[in-house]
Amino acid sequence: MKNKQLKLILVSTPIGYLGSGKGGGVELTIISLVKGLIFLGHKIILIAPKGSKLPFESELLEIRLIDGIDQPSWQHQKRTDPILIPSKSVLPSLWEDVIDIADQSDAVINFAYDWLPLWLTKTKVIKIFHLISMGDESIIMREIINEISQLFPLQLAFHTKIQSKDYSLKTDPTIVGNGFDMENYFFNENVNGPLGWAGRIAPEKGLEDAVKVANSLDEKLLVWGLKEDIEYASKIENSFKKEIIEWRGFLPTNEFQEQLGQCRALINTPKWNEAYGNVIVEAMACGVPVIAYDLGGPGELIQDGFNGFLVKPNDIEGLIKATKSISEIKRNNCRNWFEKNATNKVFAERVESWVNKGLNKKSLQTFKIN
Ligand code: UDP
Repeated sequence: MKNKQLKLILVSTPIGYLGSGKGGGVELTIISLVKGLIFLGHKIILIAPKGSKLPFESELLEIRLIDGIDQPSWQHQKRTDPILIPSKSVLPSLWEDVIDIADQSDAVINFAYDWLPLWLTKTKVIKIFHLISMGDESIIMREIINEISQLFPLQLAFHTKIQSKDYSLKTDPTIVGNGFDMENYFFNENVNGPLGWAGRIAPEKGLEDAVKVANSLDEKLLVWGLKEDIEYASKIENSFKKEIIEWRGFLPTNEFQEQLGQCRALINTPKWNEAYGNVIVEAMACGVPVIAYDLGGPGELIQDGFNGFLVKPNDIEGLIKATKSISEIKRNNCRNWFEKNATNKVFAERVESWVNKGLNKKSLQTFKIN
C-alpha cells in the first residue's frame, strides 16, 4: 500500500441502525467508506447501533454493535431546541465503547450530527475527526461546530463547499464529497423511461414539488424511500390523483439502482440546504440525469446542461421545462461524472488524506479542561 496503514474507529449515526433507512444518506456513506478504506489497506473498527449490517466482510474489519434507544433527528426539531438525550440512549453508549478501545486506534471518525461527540473532542481524551453530514439545522449544533473549527480546524470535514458555508469556520474547510461503490451501479441507456424521485419521505425533502411536475405532465412518478413522516406522505397522496404516485418502498441498493436506472430523469426537490444528496449521484451512476433545485449539494454535483439541470428553488415551471428538455442530456455524461468524482475509492482517498493531515499537523488547541 502507498500510505502507512491506519487503524481507524468509525462511529455510526445514532439515529438508526445501518440498513434501517432512518439515518438517511449517512448510512450508505459509512458503508461505502468502510469498503473504500479497506481497499486502501486500512484497519477498521466500526461501532454502530445493534441491528446494523454490512453487505461484505473483511479480515481488516471488526464490527461492534451497541444496544440503545435511537436519537431523535435534528432536522425534525426546532432550531432553538436544547440537546436531547433519551433514557437508555444509544449515543452515549456508542461513545463509551469508543473511549474503552480508543487506545487501539490512530484516529476516530464520527458520522453523527450530534453534540456529544463534537463536545468530547474538546476533552482531547481521544482524537476525533468529524464528517459533518448536515447544514445548519440547530443553534446549539452550529455553535459547537463553529467552536470545534476554532480549536481543531483540521478535524472537521464537509461533503460540499456550499454545506460548509452554513458555519463560521476558522480555516478553509476540508471538502471530501461522498462516494459509492462502482460495482453496485449499472449503466442503463434507456432514454424513454418514467420520472423518478427518491429520498426520505419528510417535509425537508419536498416530494410534493416533484409530484406537481408529474401531475402537470399527466405522468406517473415512481417514488423510492423510507416513509419517515407518514402524515406528510398521506397528505401529499391525498392532494393528487391516486395513480400519480407509484410508491416503490425503501429498497436495498441492488434493487434500488436497478429500478432507478430505468428512469429517464430523477427529480430532486429539497427544501433545505442539502449537504450532499446521495440519490443524485446514485441516479447518475446508473446514467440517469437529474433535475434538481439549486439548493445546497445539488448545485455542486450537477453541471447544468451536462449531467442534468439546475432549477431555482420552488420553481415548478422551471422543473417542468427542464423535464421536457431532458433528452438533451447524454446519459453517458452522468456515468462519467460519477466515475470521475464520486466512487468510494476517490472518497476514501480524500478521507485518508484529511485524516493524515490532521494526525501529522498540530491543531490550534487552546481549550483547557479542568
Ligand atoms: N435509499 C435506499 N433505498 C431506497 C431509497 C433510498 O437505500 O429505496 C437510500 C439512498 O441510497 C441514499 C439515502 O436513502 O443513500 C438517501 O440519502 P440522501 O443523501 O439522498 O438524503 P438524506 O436522507 O440523507 O437527507
